[in-house]
Amino acid sequence: MTAPQWDIVIIGAGIHGAGLAQAAAAAGYQTLLLEQYAEPAQGTSSKSSKLIHGGLRYLESGEFALVRECLHERKLLLKNAPHLVKMNAFHIPVYSDTSRSVWKIRLGLGLYSLFSWQRFHQLPRSKWSLLDGLNQQYLQTVFSYYDAQTDDALLTRAVLASAQSLGAELRYRNRVVSAAPTADGMCLHCDDDGQAIEITARLVFNASGPWVAEVHRRLLQHSDSTSNFDVSLVQGAHIVLPTAVKHAYYLEAPQDKRAVFVLPWQDQTLVGTTETEFSGDPAEVAPRPEEIDYLLAVYRHYFSSRQQQPFEREDVVSSFAGLRVLPAGDGAAFGKSRDTIFVADNERAPRVVSILGGKLTAYRATAEKLVERVRHYLPKRQPQADTRELRLPRLE
Ligand SMILES: Cc1cc2nc3c(=O)[nH]c(=O)nc-3n(C[C@H](O)[C@H](O)[C@H](O)COP(=O)(O)OP(=O)(O)OC[C@H]3O[C@@H](n4cnc5c(N)ncnc54)[C@H](O)[C@@H]3O)c2cc1C
Repeated sequence: MTAPQWDIVIIGAGIHGAGLAQAAAAAGYQTLLLEQYAEPAQGTSSKSSKLIHGGLRYLESGEFALVRECLHERKLLLKNAPHLVKMNAFHIPVYSDTSRSVWKIRLGLGLYSLFSWQRFHQLPRSKWSLLDGLNQQYLQTVFSYYDAQTDDALLTRAVLASAQSLGAELRYRNRVVSAAPTADGMCLHCDDDGQAIEITARLVFNASGPWVAEVHRRLLQHSDSTSNFDVSLVQGAHIVLPTAVKHAYYLEAPQDKRAVFVLPWQDQTLVGTTETEFSGDPAEVAPRPEEIDYLLAVYRHYFSSRQQQPFEREDVVSSFAGLRVLPAGDGAAFGKSRDTIFVADNERAPRVVSILGGKLTAYRATAEKLVERVRHYLPKRQPQADTRELRLPRLE
């Protein structure tokens, strides 16, 4: 009987696949990553709000551990990838009709600054005129705090490059189609750029983002595992507007009181996001006209004095949409946990582990936890590095 070719095979070159490849290679495992497209970060990992943040609003739903973990990861990324992750001043304007009260926002920011050791303050009225033409009618106060922004696709590429430098192998145009269990792992059936091939592994990590439930089903179609699950896919759209705002804003949509960000992004302005139920092929996700109108309306509500003519649909430079993967079940998408969930085919002897949900910000911690969890099912290997200490390369 021949040993499996790889200790770990990872499906998907988004941020989670990249983080897992880095963590697995750093732990000394023979690691292969397979991606269906010709390039990395073609799924959600190039369609996010591009924030490296704790997620201020998760404090409202009591997700303190998630916020704390993300803020810790933000600190590590600022140290290990200062060329990719930058701090910026974020502003929360409070108007007489803002749904959250001044004391509630102050409490949230107080907790946030406790977790991050980063102060917040109330901006003096004399400085309001510096806020990109922010609407000042009925404005009561403006809170100011710090959070970080990145280029999500570039971050994913940098983590992949780090994984490669530790010995992980990456193969693009390789779609995992199905699988079968073997005596000591899994045999994956792949479409390698039009050619059917087989790859054997002791363990498979399914980091296929919005495809996760379908890929999990395919991986286990010839096994007796009953671990199949359903997910809800929730579309989040962004629009890009000409000319950049100087600061970042955390706003409340006047239409439905949801949180919407207005952010400086590559000399332009990024506005997002929405939350729209999605069904269909994840490859076809695209912003809907009503989502574009919704985001334009939020922008116009707060920044009406910035342009002589308010922005219309034809002024939108570009738009994109990504899919949040949430566990299926009752409840509004907005209120569901954003924490990562691992689903194994068999808790006592896993061969396949699927990753649902999660945050761009916490990719490293998520990957570290998963690799740690499967360590005693794999042969002993010599660790090569600690991912907390790894500098991410600067890519041309
Ligand atoms: C609208 C929106 C905004 C967000 N904003 C933020 C934010 O500001 N900050 C933050 O921290 N988090 C944010 N998130 C969360 C974060 O972006 C995601 O959790 C993360 O990008 C998911 O990455 P992933 O690697 O799991 O999936 P993906 O990036 O989707 O990658 C999955 C990969 O798997 C590949 N694949 C699928 N099937 C196969 C197959 N059969 N064979 C081979 N390859 C396959 C796909 O091609 C794809 O490349 C946001 C999410 C959304 C939806």
